[in-house]
Amino acid sequence: MRFSRLRLTGFKSFVDPTDLVISEGLTGVVGPNGCGKSNLLEALRWVMGETRAKAMRGSGMEDVIFAGASSRPARNFAEVCLTMDNSDRLAPAGFNDSDQLEIVRRITRDVGSAYKTNGKDVRARDVQMLFADASTGAHSPALVRQGQISELINAKPKNRRRILEEAAGISGLYQRRHEAELK
Ligand code: ATP
Ligand code: MG
Repeated sequence: MRFSRLRLTGFKSFVDPTDLVISEGLTGVVGPNGCGKSNLLEALRWVMGETRAKAMRGSGMEDVIFAGASSRPARNFAEVCLTMDNSDRLAPAGFNDSDQLEIVRRITRDVGSAYKTNGKDVRARDVQMLFADASTGAHSPALVRQGQISELINAKPKNRRRILEEAAGISGLYQRRHEAELK
């Protein structure tokens, strides 16, 4: 399973519909300061179920919606659609019945977020679990924020253990255990 396409509408600086095809192999995003490179990585994290507004460099989740510019009014919603190529049929159980898997997250002002997988309404948890079981997701160590390496070096062993769990592919189980303990 691999990311094959990312589409954004009204997400941060990407006010107009933007369609990025992600080819196999290494992809580089280049551009001047402030052009939206980090916003793209945040879109990826967001569609995988990020719940921390701070991780999106905002004070509330609605801050991801295009806030307007001198010549353009603000938007009322933001949407990110991530397409995964599942021709290797390695998607976790429950999501493995087609060659393509499409995940959509939309946030509307005063309403909040809604998710879809292959056109079907799902919960945020379903999307988070899907990516946790695939050993990736909003908290994946594969998404490296600026300053994160030094944070890691100074981290407590317990926090560093999360990364080993992610690598071992057991973070989905960890999340389920945590939920079971809360019940
Ligand atoms: P650098 O090279 O400095 O890291 P970058 O290419 O990573 O830059 P980003 O941080 O992704 O740039 O983009 C920042 C731009 O996104 C800023 O111009 C900021 O105003 C804009 N931006 C962020 N959130 C919103 C929003 N909600 N509405 C409109 N524009 C936004
Ligand atoms: Mg940046």
